[in-house]
Amino acid sequence: MHIEQGETSGSSRILTGLGRGLRRKCPNCGHGFAFSGYLKLRTACECCDHPIGEYRCDDAPPYFTIFLVGHIVIPGVLAMEQSGSPSMMLQLGIWIPVTIGLCLGLLPFIKGGVLGTQWAMRIKG
Ligand SMILES: [Zn+2]
Repeated sequence: MHIEQGETSGSSRILTGLGRGLRRKCPNCGHGFAFSGYLKLRTACECCDHPIGEYRCDDAPPYFTIFLVGHIVIPGVLAMEQSGSPSMMLQLGIWIPVTIGLCLGLLPFIKGGVLGTQWAMRIKG
């Protein structure tokens, strides 16, 4: 059974879906988990039975993740370079793990946010 949550205005619905998605929860009810693994979406919500698996996030989550991480890492690299220009090996030893860690850490939450936005805008498949 599919239960659609009450209608709200467009921007309110986007904020609701985005907030729930960023917490990796079902964008429709906000209670059930939307993910069954690191990035795999459930076929349906365990609480409201909303068909979460019908949403296709495709390349949007990695795109937004790279965009965000780039805007965090690049200023850090430039600031470090301006403040004494440490050795290349030191910079690589710092910034490669930071970049990988930020990408892997943020990607599931950003995918949730994309899912929530798709729910708000009723974009499936
Ligand atoms: Zn739900």
